[in-house]
Amino acid sequence: MIRKVLIANRGEIALRIIRACRELGMKSVAVYSDADEDSLPVQLADEAICIGPASSQESYLKADRILSAAEIANVDAIHPGYGFLSENAEFAEQCERCNIKFIGPKSATIRQMGDKAVARETVNKFKVPMVPGSDGPVESENEGLRVAKSIGFPVIIKAVAGGGGRGMRVAHNAAAFGKSFETAKNEAEKAFGNGQLYIEKFIDSPRHIEFQILADQHGKIVHLGERDCSVQRRHQKIIEEAPSPFLSPEMRKTMGRAAVKAAQAAEYQNAGTVEFLVDSKKNFYFIEMNTRIQVEHGVTEEVTGIDLVKEQLTIAANEKLAFDQRSIKFQRHSIECRICAEDPVNNFLPSPGEIELYFAPGGHGVRVDSHVYSGYKISPHYDSMISKLITFGRNRSLALDRMERALGEYIIRGKNLRNNIPFCRAIIKDPVFRAGKATTRYVEDFLARTPNEMFTPKA
Ligand code: ADP
Repeated sequence: MIRKVLIANRGEIALRIIRACRELGMKSVAVYSDADEDSLPVQLADEAICIGPASSQESYLKADRILSAAEIANVDAIHPGYGFLSENAEFAEQCERCNIKFIGPKSATIRQMGDKAVARETVNKFKVPMVPGSDGPVESENEGLRVAKSIGFPVIIKAVAGGGGRGMRVAHNAAAFGKSFETAKNEAEKAFGNGQLYIEKFIDSPRHIEFQILADQHGKIVHLGERDCSVQRRHQKIIEEAPSPFLSPEMRKTMGRAAVKAAQAAEYQNAGTVEFLVDSKKNFYFIEMNTRIQVEHGVTEEVTGIDLVKEQLTIAANEKLAFDQRSIKFQRHSIECRICAEDPVNNFLPSPGEIELYFAPGGHGVRVDSHVYSGYKISPHYDSMISKLITFGRNRSLALDRMERALGEYIIRGKNLRNNIPFCRAIIKDPVFRAGKATTRYVEDFLARTPNEMFTPKA
């Protein structure tokens, strides 16, 4: 049984978890940095504990402070959300040692899937299709080049510890390989403290299609269908939707089965995501598994009617999944835009500052997951995402019409405050996107052919 949950996160996901706890009758404990003292999670949780100054290194990433707060508040479980410590196997292990339930898979699974080369090896044994690449990390630039030549250029050099699109470089030919290898290595060392790299064939203009997994602690694993997250900038997702306009029902079945196999290979428990790339000929390839709740989980919730965060909590409380694969129905279309305080006209530079006027869209088929309000100060210390605007409808076209309408209503105003709403709106209106033709190259092409004025809010 779980009575009380500490939320080791901030912002919209902390609020999302508090809401799920409340509906399940579980008490919630927020932890916060000095910068988040006035935040909604702090106000709405049953208890709140300060864990340090604004810098995340000194607060949300400080495992020992979070564990001390958990001891003081006497919680049974910790929900890590996404980002921060959510995929930190060491932290999950510390929780296990302290007899506090980490809401996610076992630390051994996080470790196994957190190393992308090991993850490839693990799911390969279960015959899940894989992007051709190196067997494990490459020891040196020379070995990397040998592998690249054998699989054929272009290749993508990736950090085994990678995440958030960092530590990744494409090499189009042997001459460019050395420089790309070095840059990826430096970036990986800096970002993850681990410079190990592996090589994959670079798939030309693929779609990023991922499957949501739920697995209880009694051996049952189901998938909740896919999300198409091809609209990305610098390998970071901006717009996600479910179902994918690219998948036939047969492909959905085949890929869903492969995703469940990948989860079985990892002896997975709780919510997770199996990510695939799909090429123009509809071949699909495993790229990685994320062992946490994803930012974009809401679109799956709107399509299936299943509350993923509540499922995470009840799975952690050792309950059995109440449904099986056949009873999961995909009934609507849903789409999400990540609303960020950033300036699309100025290379998407983060744009922190105070929101003077905030009005969130509403009406039928609109959901806004956000922690901000009029008077809220967007801190420069954290991610620039301030809200997730989700719409849904009976079909894709209705969901998109609704998204366009909702983006048009959204007001986030403040001195020198910029946001990406006009940018998202321009994409939603774009005929290429409307036709369901976006691949991971889409945003780059879209930016090249779209004048900046399209992204400037009307005065
Ligand atoms: P991260 O963990 O940093 O998010 P992923 O492995 O999930 O990295 O890849 C992120 C994105 O990078 C993918 O959605 C895709 O756009 C691109 N990418 C990754 N691997 C390949 C590949 N082999 N070929 C083409 N694009 C790739």
